[in-house]
Amino acid sequence: MKVAIMGAGLSGLACAITLEQNRIYPTIFEKRNEVGDRFIYNELMLSIINRPVTDSLAYFSEKHGIYLHPVSNVSKLIVHSENEQAKITGKLGFTNARGRHKDAFEKQMAKQIKSKIIFNSKYTYEQLQREFTHVIIATGDAAYTAKVQDFQEDLTVTLKGATVVGKFDPHTTAAWLDNRLCPKGYGYLLPYSHQEANIVLAYPDYPENRKKDLNTLWDRFYNKVCTDLGQNLKIRDNFEVTRYIIGLCKYPRIGNTFFVGNCFGAILPFLGFGQYVSILTGIYAAYDLCGIGDYEKLTKPLQKNYNNSLVLRRYLEQLDNSKLDKIVKKLNGPIGNKLFSSKHYDPLKLVSYLLRPFVKNNTRKV
Ligand SMILES: Cc1cc2nc3c(=O)[nH]c(=O)nc-3n(C[C@H](O)[C@H](O)[C@H](O)COP(=O)(O)OP(=O)(O)OC[C@H]3O[C@@H](n4cnc5c(N)ncnc54)[C@H](O)[C@@H]3O)c2cc1C
Repeated sequence: MKVAIMGAGLSGLACAITLEQNRIYPTIFEKRNEVGDRFIYNELMLSIINRPVTDSLAYFSEKHGIYLHPVSNVSKLIVHSENEQAKITGKLGFTNARGRHKDAFEKQMAKQIKSKIIFNSKYTYEQLQREFTHVIIATGDAAYTAKVQDFQEDLTVTLKGATVVGKFDPHTTAAWLDNRLCPKGYGYLLPYSHQEANIVLAYPDYPENRKKDLNTLWDRFYNKVCTDLGQNLKIRDNFEVTRYIIGLCKYPRIGNTFFVGNCFGAILPFLGFGQYVSILTGIYAAYDLCGIGDYEKLTKPLQKNYNNSLVLRRYLEQLDNSKLDKIVKKLNGPIGNKLFSSKHYDPLKLVSYLLRPFVKNNTRKV
């Protein structure tokens, strides 16, 4: 068996680690100069998203032998709406670095493999298919999947972010749900340390949003973050991501080609979390190649989760600021804490079932 992995990101490297655990050594093709050769930013692994798993990092190490260290554990989340604020506490998840950061998840994973990585790769899928028995498509870009098979795009997102300097508690993250700042989207703050944090504005590219000026929205968001934190944050670096695709591929596997990570449809549309499913799909593709599992069967529950998340996104998009205020008010205190720390049921799945009748064009069949 000769396996090529296209992309040395989370899903590709998770696949490589798992293959190596089973004594298969793939060749990895990476377009960039090095692993994580991208702007530095922080991401969040929120436990409530990954139920029934409550601690995703412990799960990856204990069940799958993939060892990841976070920047910090998150014990407080402050959600702001126009007029309300919810403080949610508990074991909420982890923040982790990405890109060129020395402790970026992809860099931690690259240290766990022996397989060869070919950098600055210009290989196309067609070339790899000719030279290898199996190809794993892990380019992090669903547009690549769309060239090869049917990929149903549900939305694309614009993201603008910056590293800001100020005073932060590394265990406290914040989110803003306010259509004046982030129409049908949200903004968030993830600290790297006591002195630095990432602030990011993310909203869908619907026609009504395309008319809006990104820089005006950004200035509004940045000023709101400064006001809510009572600090004059200094901006260090910034980044923009445009037309970030969220959707699901029709076939997780076609013949000897596997679609993993964002190329599978790892990003959950509600809030855009994709790391957990990216790593899982990489592991599952390797399981199939090693004869441990069937990729299509293993990914079925992930497709269902995606659909549940799409219902939540469509519901969120229907809410004006007064409704967002009501929800945020309810989340404050024991209700929010209980919801986020529930261990025995999947709250997002439950809520998505309850909301389904109230959401227009809510989902598609898996
Ligand atoms: C700004 C931003 C913030 C995010 N925040 C969060 C968050 O807080 N929590 C969360 O869970 N998720 C978040 N996500 C989503 C998450 O980052 C992705 O779902 C996840 O990284 C996808 O993993 P992947 O393996 O598919 O792709 P990646 O990890 O992006 O890796 C893809 C790799 O393939 C390489 N590549 C691309 N094209 C080719 C090619 N033609 N040939 C060879 N190599 C190629 C790339 O250079 C890259 O190294 C965020 C995404 C962005 C953009």
